[in-house]
Amino acid sequence: MKENPPKSTALSGSEGLSGQNKRKRKFPEWFLSLIFPDRCPYCQQVISGTDTECAICRAEIPSEPIIQYLPTKECCVSPFAYASKVRNAVIGYKFKGKKYYSRSFSKYTAKAIRQVYKDHMPDVITAVPLSKKRLRQRGYNQAEIVAAEVAAILNIPYQPLLVKTKSNPEQHHLTLTERKNNVKNVYSVIGNADLSHQTILIIDDIVTTGYTLSECCRTLKQNGASVICACIASALKI
Ligand SMILES: [Zn+2]
Repeated sequence: MKENPPKSTALSGSEGLSGQNKRKRKFPEWFLSLIFPDRCPYCQQVISGTDTECAICRAEIPSEPIIQYLPTKECCVSPFAYASKVRNAVIGYKFKGKKYYSRSFSKYTAKAIRQVYKDHMPDVITAVPLSKKRLRQRGYNQAEIVAAEVAAILNIPYQPLLVKTKSNPEQHHLTLTERKNNVKNVYSVIGNADLSHQTILIIDDIVTTGYTLSECCRTLKQNGASVICACIASALKI
């Protein structure tokens, strides 16, 4: 997305994405929205409570998804590149408590999944888990919120399948080699469930080196699953 958007108000893409959701606001949520109105995740312009982003930013959203392959060769689709206004939006969502940004991210992530995996849709959707410590600090798992919303949009079951068994340092503080080793053996399948004959779609917020998603895929595959991936935004350079 460019920093200076064109003055177009056209909706890019199709597939029934209207830019609005059907959510009706209840009092006092409605009252609070008068004092603290929702803002466009990408440009901070005030939007109505039923919009997920402003019309100008909506017109800039790419109609074609990014398709990449992880170090472990699984396909990963993303509706956005992790840059400029999208980067700011993801940071707001992840670190500044802007949970409602998920509505826009989920809508476009679901669209990208439908476009790319249309003939091979997954049986189950899951999310990259946080450690208990990180979940306590942040209060929510940003990948899980989007994964559950995407599952609802696509009418596919959402199921937590992985648990993070070690609280390792955050990836963005580390070098490439350190990142690869940092995620090794930190995930396990909940209840060591047999995932044979299941295609699982795992969702993360951002893919950077791909090591985190790759390790999640490796763990799910150990228990028999076929795995495909998606994320909100890609910073993967391949
Ligand atoms: Zn906007």
